[in-house]
Amino acid sequence: MTDFELTRRRLIQVGGGAAAASLMVTAESALGQARGVSAAGQPMPEGVELPDAPPRQRRSDSVGFAIIGLGDYALKQIMPRFDQSERAHIAALVSGNPRKLREVGEAYGIPPESRYSYDSFADIAADNGVEAAYVVLPSGLHAEWTERAFAAGKHVMCEKPMALSSEECERMIAASNRANRKLMIAYRCHFEPYNLKAVELMEAEAVGDLRLIRTEHSYRMGPTTPAENWRVSRALAGGGPLEDYGIYGLQAALYLSGEMPERISAATHRPIGDQRFAEIFAHVSVQCRFPSGAAAHLVTSYDSAGLNMVETRGTSGALMMQPATNYSGNTLTLEAGREKHDLSPGNSNVQFARQLDHLADAIRGGTPIRTPGEMGLRDVRLIEAIYASAATGRTIMLNPDGTMRS
Ligand code: NAD
Repeated sequence: MTDFELTRRRLIQVGGGAAAASLMVTAESALGQARGVSAAGQPMPEGVELPDAPPRQRRSDSVGFAIIGLGDYALKQIMPRFDQSERAHIAALVSGNPRKLREVGEAYGIPPESRYSYDSFADIAADNGVEAAYVVLPSGLHAEWTERAFAAGKHVMCEKPMALSSEECERMIAASNRANRKLMIAYRCHFEPYNLKAVELMEAEAVGDLRLIRTEHSYRMGPTTPAENWRVSRALAGGGPLEDYGIYGLQAALYLSGEMPERISAATHRPIGDQRFAEIFAHVSVQCRFPSGAAAHLVTSYDSAGLNMVETRGTSGALMMQPATNYSGNTLTLEAGREKHDLSPGNSNVQFARQLDHLADAIRGGTPIRTPGEMGLRDVRLIEAIYASAATGRTIMLNPDGTMRS
C-alpha cells in the first residue's frame, strides 16, 4: 500500500501478464463528493494587471463565456487573451469574493447582473448572453462545476486535469451528453505552434522510427501547507505534481508518439516531515512502453530546480524542446545526423485565443473538438494506472482506452 492516504478505496485487479492476472490490490480513488471540498472566494492574486479598457467583441456571432474562478491563471493568462480571440468574449464572471468580482467586472466591462457568486450560479441558466462556461477552479472542483454548468445549459471548457478520478470524468461526459452541450478540456498545447510543429515532424518521421521520449516538468515549490495552498491539498489536487504539471509530459508523450502505452510502471516519493508534502507526492517518475516498442520516461517534481523539457529520439534523429510547453518562449530543435536546425514555427502566445476559438467553432459549426472529455478521461485513467503501479510496485498492463487490464 502506498503512503498516500485514501479518501476512498476501491478494489481493482492489476495484471503483470498472465502470471499475475488475478492479483487483487487496492488503489486510490478520490471521488469528488467524498472529498467534502467546495468553492470559496480567495483574495486577488498578486501581480494581476487589469485591462484599462474592456476587450473588444469582434463578431456579432461571438460566443459569450462565463469565467468560473478568478485566480492566477484566469486573470493573468486566459482573460487577457480574449482580446485576441475572433469568436469568443467574456460575458459573465463567477467568484466567491465580492470585492474581486466587482473590480474585475468593472475592468472587463461585465455588468453587475452578469456577475455571479458560487451561491447564485444557478441563475446563470437564464443569462442568454452566456453560452459557455470556462472552469478555472482548483482541480478537485472541476467535476462539480462542470456538471453545474451543464445543468445550467452551458457548454464547458474545463481546465486540466479534467478531474481527479475517472469516475468523475465519466460523470462529466455523461452530463455533457444529457445536456447536449460540448465539453472541451483546455489542453492548450494542442493549439501551440511549437508542439503542433513537433507533431507534424513526428508524423513525417523526421527522426526515423521513434525509440525514446523523455519529458520533465519540475519546479521547486516554496514553503506552504495544505491549508494555505490548494496545490498541496490532496482533496483539491489529487497526487500533486503529476496532475498539475507532469500531465503536460504525459500528453506530449501521447501526441508525439501517436500511441497509447500498453504498460506502465512508476515510482512516487513523499518526504516525511515536509508540510508541502503532507498530503501529496513530491516526485513522480513513470516508464511507459508503447505497442511499437518505443519507450517513454516521464518525470515530474515540485521539489527540484525548474525544468520544462520534452525530447524524442528516433533511429535517425531527435527533437528537443526546452522549454516545451510554456505559455511563451518554447523552443524546438531538430537534430538529424550532425545537423541541428532551430525551428521557429510561430508565436506560442496564440495558443490561448486559438483554444477559445476552437470551442466557439464547435458550438457554432458543430466541428469536432480536438481535446474532448474522452481525452481528459483517457489521461486520468493513465494517472490512475501510474499511482496503482507506484502503490503496488507492479507493472500495469493497459487496454487501448487506458483502463487497467485485469
Ligand atoms: P489559483 O489558486 O490561482 O486560483 C484558483 C481560483 O479558484 C481562486 O482564486 C478562487 O477564485 C477559486 N476558488 C474557488 N474555490 C476555491 C478553493 N476552495 N480553494 C482555492 N481556490 C478556490 O489557481 P490557478 O493557478 O489559477 O489554477 C486554476 C486551474 O487552472 C487549475 O485547474 C489549474 O490546473 C489550471 N491551470 C492551467 C494552466 C494551463 O497552462 N492550462 C496553468 C495554470 C493553472
